[in-house]
Amino acid sequence: MEFDYDLFVIGAGSGGVRASRIAAGFGARVAVAEEFRVGGTCVIRGCVPKKLLVYASHFAEDFEMAKGFGWTVGETSFDWKTLISRKDAEIDRLNGLYIKTLEGAGVEIINGRAVVTGPNSVSLGGREITAKTILVATGGWPHMPDVPGIEHAITSNEAFHLDEQPKRIVVVGGGYIAVEFAGIFRGMGSDVTLLYRGEQIMRGFDDDLRDRLTIEMQRKGIDVRTGTNVTGIEKLDTGVHLTLTDGSTMEADAVMYATGRVPNTSGLGLEAAEVELGKGGAVKVDAFGKTNVDSIYAVGDVTDRVQLTPVAIKEGHAFALTVFGGTPTSPAHDAIPTAVFSQPPIGTVGLSESDAKEKYGDIDVYTSDFRPMKHTLGGSDERAFTKMIVDKSTGKVVGAHMIGVDAAEIIQGIGIAVKAGLTKAQFDATVAVHPSSAEEFVLMRTPRDN
Ligand code: FAD
Repeated sequence: MEFDYDLFVIGAGSGGVRASRIAAGFGARVAVAEEFRVGGTCVIRGCVPKKLLVYASHFAEDFEMAKGFGWTVGETSFDWKTLISRKDAEIDRLNGLYIKTLEGAGVEIINGRAVVTGPNSVSLGGREITAKTILVATGGWPHMPDVPGIEHAITSNEAFHLDEQPKRIVVVGGGYIAVEFAGIFRGMGSDVTLLYRGEQIMRGFDDDLRDRLTIEMQRKGIDVRTGTNVTGIEKLDTGVHLTLTDGSTMEADAVMYATGRVPNTSGLGLEAAEVELGKGGAVKVDAFGKTNVDSIYAVGDVTDRVQLTPVAIKEGHAFALTVFGGTPTSPAHDAIPTAVFSQPPIGTVGLSESDAKEKYGDIDVYTSDFRPMKHTLGGSDERAFTKMIVDKSTGKVVGAHMIGVDAAEIIQGIGIAVKAGLTKAQFDATVAVHPSSAEEFVLMRTPRDN
């Protein structure tokens, strides 16, 4: 049978763009459908605009610190609208670059929402299109819990486009998006409350980092309330009125939910092709990204494995190598370094202390708690903390964690060493970069008493 395309990709986000480009490079006839904007979540309303806002929000503290270094800083003010319009211009630029890259690679971009109609067919704008292989790369969408008045809440999607800076904002959630936005708004001078229903924020991260981040966020004036949730939201002329599980109430200009993201498979038609879905509607795939239907693959957030852009990209690339490059490639999901752009930031790779204990039993834990040099004259009380977990039987470093200035930049290099399976002795044999915070990773000598 003659198909319209060799590959039809649904979703031009991190995974879909990489897969399309690489497959086209192997000579495949490729089309990609995008219902919103080419670039996907990361570029349009995720990592990129988020990080720009994090940079913007840090200036208040930098101006304050500058005084300790002899600078006289004049009167400062912040204009939300200017930031948002400059951020939008940058996103437009990147969106244009992504379109250019795809077109340059010979990929056809089709604007619109695609729905799967069979193992080799999709429908788009009333048109039926056939393809030898279909790649589902539709990403995820914010999960909103069933709370009365939830329609008055915003998510990260809207937070990037608010007309005004909310002077009082409640962020609901305890994951990385919640803590990042809490830090962004606080840095810009808003009153911020973070509500999390669990015992401690940042579930899945090393417990020491979770505790440290809570302390530092509180030190910066964020009201972190754990064990607390919202039971109802009412709209006011001035914002929202919230009722909480402890019976108390509060008012704010906005309430933002960052309570997880769900795979984007609703209404996608995968049932028509009998594609098996797992928990929460995630597309079930094998190690090569193949679903139970031979002609349909999936990569990225829609598979709900590790929801990070570089992971989606690696999966997209591996898919293209496997199906069009003649090189079966399965992306590894171990030792993935990652950062949280909280304030201070977190960098982490490998296992937390509790996970390492469960997996290896006998472990050594090394920690270092210090005041970054910048803060000595800068006058900030903010502290940094590094931690390494070592499997005692092999001496291998199986987890490395940091919270503090530059942690996000530092962890990439440490990630290479952990991924390579280097031992604590090899870390110790490495000469320190001095003076730096990163050097702690080669200077921690005495294991902590367990
Ligand atoms: P996406 O990038 O979400 O792309 C999916 C695309 O498919 C979207 O463009 C969507 O419009 C389109 N689509 C969906 N359904 C259809 C359809 N039926 N037809 C046509 N098009 C469709 N990750 C990091 O690594 N670092 C970070 O700092 C980071 N920060 C983040 C901050 C926020 C606020 C958010 C929300 C996410 C962040 N992420 C971060 C996660 C990252 O954005 C995702 O892991 C990544 O974008 C996943 O890529 P993907 O290709 O799976 O899907």
